[in-house]
Amino acid sequence: MDSINYNYAIIGAGCAGMHLALAMMEDSFFEQQQILVLEKDSKSINDRTWCFWEEGSGKWDGLIDHAWSKGKFYSSTADETLSLKGYRYKKLKSIDFYNYAKEKINAAPNFHWVKDDIQMVNSNGKTSILGQTQSYIVDHIFDSRIHPDFYQSKDKFTRILQHFKGWIIETETDFFDPEEFIIMDFRLKYKDSTSFSYVLPTSPRRALVEFTLFTKELIEDKDYDEVIKSYLSDILQLEKYKVVEIEKGVIPMSDFPFHARHEAHLTKIGTAGSWVRPSTGYSFKNSEKYSQRIIKNLKAGRKPSSGIARNRFRHYDKLLLKILKDRNELGEELFTSMFERNSTRQIFKFLDEDTNLLEDARIMSSFRAAPFLEALYKQVFT
Ligand SMILES: Cc1cc2nc3c(=O)[nH]c(=O)nc-3n(C[C@H](O)[C@H](O)[C@H](O)COP(=O)(O)OP(=O)(O)OC[C@H]3O[C@@H](n4cnc5c(N)ncnc54)[C@H](O)[C@@H]3O)c2cc1C
Repeated sequence: MDSINYNYAIIGAGCAGMHLALAMMEDSFFEQQQILVLEKDSKSINDRTWCFWEEGSGKWDGLIDHAWSKGKFYSSTADETLSLKGYRYKKLKSIDFYNYAKEKINAAPNFHWVKDDIQMVNSNGKTSILGQTQSYIVDHIFDSRIHPDFYQSKDKFTRILQHFKGWIIETETDFFDPEEFIIMDFRLKYKDSTSFSYVLPTSPRRALVEFTLFTKELIEDKDYDEVIKSYLSDILQLEKYKVVEIEKGVIPMSDFPFHARHEAHLTKIGTAGSWVRPSTGYSFKNSEKYSQRIIKNLKAGRKPSSGIARNRFRHYDKLLLKILKDRNELGEELFTSMFERNSTRQIFKFLDEDTNLLEDARIMSSFRAAPFLEALYKQVFT
């Protein structure tokens, strides 16, 4: 048993855990508090690329790998130039964020990074955490482990997967415009599914070309490769390139109430706390925003998770997920109508949960009515 009584423990130093640790470190309120960071991994590989949008400059500008001020959306019926105005779409390599946060955490005298694979927590009475070889006593736990109920209650909630494979390619001659990215391109799909490609060029000769599906089941590895290959040759008309890196990933998209798993002395964070927007899979900016909300709550003596789960937006996501589950072939049409009928600025505001009710209504009414109403009807009456 570790003899220190820690004020806070963060289980999992991934996107959410590191954001929260950094936010605590930057606030003098926590200067005298002992904060334990428990992570099973060394966090020394670049295991994902984070993209997010932001108006003007931002906190992570020193770490970002590339940013775009022009964007396109394509489908079989649309060719839209995104009206980004003051927004920029930014890309960050996870390893750069991990290295930055690890260095800060290791240098802070009141932070204690311990490599441990947490087996169990007990948050009734004196809160304790059981690691592989030792246990820790803590006042409050922030836990980024996904609750096992999520895997055991498959049939009770709408659940689909955002899964993707991307190739970082290099060309022999200048081909890409490094100022312009493609957010979604539905011109080549996998069967009749909600699936699209996106293109993130970082130089005239280098780009990440990724194929993404929002479906119930994963597909075979070779199927992603075939689509990416066809997309490059048939849609982008690019024949000569070499693949220099590969990225693959799966993000659960579900209306499972992760946030309902908080306990008196334990707050779920990250994917495990509903910080990933279920309809989009984005969470990097949410992690920054929600960590700040936690800090505010702790300082005000409120429940740490207060105000994080916004019911209205969960409801919209639930609806969209239901359509994607029941009528997966409609994804292209839904996203096309959203990009055709709203400014990018409004879409970003909506996805950031910063819109008011009237603005929400405008976005919702831009979706084609019939399938939307059908899903709404099913949600209310079944
Ligand atoms: C490949 C990929 C690409 C993505 N791209 C984007 C993007 O472009 N933009 C965006 O906004 N979002 C993106 N996401 C979604 C989301 O931002 C990430 O999944 C994000 O990392 C989620 O944060 P998290 O802290 O919940 O989980 P993670 O970042 O996965 O962190 C969880 C941490 O907990 C640790 N852990 C787990 N169990 C234990 C245990 N028992 N004991 C100790 N430690 C433990 C893990 O090792 C890990 O470090 C992407 C996700 C993936 C998978």
